[in-house]
Amino acid sequence: MRVPRADPKAAYEQLRAAHLNAVRASLEDHVTRLEWPRQRIERYRTERLRSLLAFARERSPFHAARMGDIDPATATVNDLARLPVMVKREARDEWDRIVTTPDIDGAGAERVLAQQGWFSYTSTRLQVFSSGGSSGVRGVYVWDWAQFVTLACLAWRWQTRAERVSGSDGRPARLAVLEAGEPPHASTPLFDIATGPSMQTVVIPAAAPFDQVLRAVADARPTHLVGYASVIGRLARAAIAGELAIRPVRVSTNSEPLSEEDRDAINTAWGAPVHNLWGSTEIGVQAVGCGHGDGLHICEDEVILERVDAAGRAVAPDEPAARTLATGLSGLTFPFIRYDLGDEVTLLPGRCACGSSMQRVAGVVGRHDDDFRYGDRMVPASAFRHVLGTDPLISEYQVRQTEGGADVLVVGSPDVPAVASALASSVRQYGFVNPDISVSVVEQIPRHASTGKLMRFIALSG
Ligand SMILES: [Zn+2]
Repeated sequence: MRVPRADPKAAYEQLRAAHLNAVRASLEDHVTRLEWPRQRIERYRTERLRSLLAFARERSPFHAARMGDIDPATATVNDLARLPVMVKREARDEWDRIVTTPDIDGAGAERVLAQQGWFSYTSTRLQVFSSGGSSGVRGVYVWDWAQFVTLACLAWRWQTRAERVSGSDGRPARLAVLEAGEPPHASTPLFDIATGPSMQTVVIPAAAPFDQVLRAVADARPTHLVGYASVIGRLARAAIAGELAIRPVRVSTNSEPLSEEDRDAINTAWGAPVHNLWGSTEIGVQAVGCGHGDGLHICEDEVILERVDAAGRAVAPDEPAARTLATGLSGLTFPFIRYDLGDEVTLLPGRCACGSSMQRVAGVVGRHDDDFRYGDRMVPASAFRHVLGTDPLISEYQVRQTEGGADVLVVGSPDVPAVASALASSVRQYGFVNPDISVSVVEQIPRHASTGKLMRFIALSG
């Protein structure tokens, strides 16, 4: 007989432990997939796609209505182009027609979010998450048991493979996890994962004031780091400045674009391999760096990416794309098929030095959502990033769009007039003749209340 538990957190931890055992068991299979030849990846992916399409057509009225004359039994990756693009607003407004189980609906998912004091599983082992809504549309997502196992393997298999190659996988290890640290964001369950029995983890909320984060990381004496790219980058700069004495042997970054400056700082501080991850709450994990070659390997066995132009047409591998559409093959409970991620990615040619034949994308520099529009002129986030991200005296920044330019908050001790004038001339290159740019030094930049992410760019709404 099951003993009733008064403490929901303890009940969660028991199921969570069972879930992590399943993750470690599946990692064995996932690590071997990284050596699969192209043909095997493609064969596997086609069968998974057929399975997803057939299941979605049977159980999701939303997807069934969009599938037209496609026969899931014989469909191929190329047939996806015959389906309409799925956008974020649909994922919110059509929730009850998308979900494939009667166990939960949109109102039920909201109830879980409103009532849970901590992360939780529903009675049918679903986990409900919410994204921060940085693009203006808040999303509510549900991950089933098997899907979480797969996503966790995608997030961690490259690191596990590299540790096995280096022979360090059996050594005692401590992983510091710098993520949201609390519900409803999925980052903590996904990244607070000990990949082997000799690893311990410690969660440090990334949104805490930086001096607290710094102290907590120093106290944890981690051998491994995982966290938001901007936080890990800032820790690296603190290490370079002599304010943090840790020696991580492996670093994993996620949730925010990893800037060149942050990558350089991590290299200088620790010289450790970096596994950068590109993911989303919708799909889970799209691509992960192997710690060896450039770019990030697409999770081709579990995710199908389509690079398309502004009109939604496929572009050639060497042509620039406007959008990336993703189909998550493990997401049976709430299928995302040809989902518009809003990110633009470039394919890297050739095979990676690590030996895997999983295709690679170059680093994801950011979302177009970060670009600022002034009337009919568009100023990309990079116009600001190139100035602010390369100033060694700036440790963190936030750019808030205004009618006539931008208010910029910086942490650090930069030459403020010089930064303001460099920003103005950078912005002028985009046809913005008289930008009004103010730069202020602040103690701290508030992070997003629920996700803990640093929003570097805040566009005027509307
Ligand atoms: Zn590689």
